[in-house]
Amino acid sequence: MKKLTYKFSKDSTDYYLAYGISHLKEIVDQKNSIIITDENIFNFHQKRFKNWNVIVLKPGEEFKVQSTADSVVEQLISMEANRKTTLIGAGGGVVTDITGYAASIYMRGIKFGFIPTTLLSLVDASIGGKNGIDVGVYKNLVGTIRQPSFILHDLIFLNTLPQSEWTNGFAEIIKHACIKDLPMFRDLESNSLKKYQDRKTLVRELIQRNAILKTKVVQQDEFEKGDRRLLNFGHTLGHALENQYELSHGQAISIGMTCACHISEQITGFKETDRVVQVLDKYGLSTYAKFDKQKVFDVLKMDKKRERKEINYVLLEKIGKAVVKSISLNQLEKFIQNL
Ligand code: ADP
Ligand code: ZN
Repeated sequence: MKKLTYKFSKDSTDYYLAYGISHLKEIVDQKNSIIITDENIFNFHQKRFKNWNVIVLKPGEEFKVQSTADSVVEQLISMEANRKTTLIGAGGGVVTDITGYAASIYMRGIKFGFIPTTLLSLVDASIGGKNGIDVGVYKNLVGTIRQPSFILHDLIFLNTLPQSEWTNGFAEIIKHACIKDLPMFRDLESNSLKKYQDRKTLVRELIQRNAILKTKVVQQDEFEKGDRRLLNFGHTLGHALENQYELSHGQAISIGMTCACHISEQITGFKETDRVVQVLDKYGLSTYAKFDKQKVFDVLKMDKKRERKEINYVLLEKIGKAVVKSISLNQLEKFIQNL
């Protein structure tokens, strides 16, 4: 069993990476804690939540909205939650985002921790302290940055994870490899989704490597002035696509990464687009897709990362080395029209 502590600017987070949910009661006071999860996870894993106070949300991104946060707050009041209460988000990115957000506003902030149950939340969404909700078509428009007090991994939850959610998680893993970790990219090239699903040690190592990679990036740049921006690789266009089409986050950013590779070819002289596309393909992700370029560009212009007439775009110089370049909206429109 391994406990690691990572310090951030204000808070620190304990990582229990090989613990299991049965150890949760050693980490928090059971009576003073409330687990927030969703119906799918609760139905599959009800026995793991026995003897815990639980709030069960409806599953899915469409419920990552203010009215869900309001209903959580109402339930916290009726459960007599107070400043000593710890909220524990046990779920995917939607659950952990809502939990962190509700914990940040309830009584101006109470403690919270996460038990990520999707591959995506294990390697990405549970890490970094961004919590929040969507407003209309704008993802994560309202929220806070506050680090969880702990993150506990229990890979038993992955036994019930649908195939499409595995694929989603691999999109972020491939992203991490592209921006920061060439050796991991090579591992991904030589392994396969099935191999990771069949071999517990292999997937555990991959998850821990990604969780730590992201943690270190966030630690060095919590408020996204420098290197943390690299984590947006594929996300500028990806978010715009996700808003316009019924696409999962992983599929959307995969198309976004493919486009970013092509734009990189023209700006940084990047030469390995095919290699990236092959790996995305291998893990069941979309790469080239037809979309209404004008419509998507119009949403993209509203991106939070935009600064006046320029947008910061994450590009690759080579696999494992990303850079942020400021591109004018006019130039970007041309690149997208020519994709
Ligand atoms: P993410 O943002 O991490 O992709 P979501 O919170 O949107 O995750 O969850 C994706 C879907 O997977 C939801 O329908 C959720 O209920 C379901 N889910 C999450 N974890 C598990 C699990 N361990 N087993 C089965 N289904 C799960
Ligand atoms: Zn993402």
